[in-house]
Amino acid sequence: LRVEDKLYHNRYLVDPGRPHIKVRPHEKPSPNLLALTRVCPAKCYELNDAGQVEITPDGCMECGTCRILCEASGEIEWNYPRGGFGVLFKFG
Ligand code: SF4
Repeated sequence: LRVEDKLYHNRYLVDPGRPHIKVRPHEKPSPNLLALTRVCPAKCYELNDAGQVEITPDGCMECGTCRILCEASGEIEWNYPRGGFGVLFKFG
């Protein structure tokens, strides 16, 4: 079974209008911020047409990779989703 096939079994409940991760406005992404477009396992980060990094946190697995790379520098704001929202892992 591929990783993608396993991830498909997870469920995600969106908290409308309250994203739990935000990218601070920037003109040009730092190397760490840019790296998130490649390392996020849920592919939440993308480059927009202006070359800035944007996030759509739907599907975030709360792995913490982006938090380790970019929270201390202030490039992202990271919180857990509110209770009852976010990822629901299915094991097995
Ligand atoms: Fe992606 Fe992990 Fe950050 Fe969620 S916590 S947005 S899955 S890198």
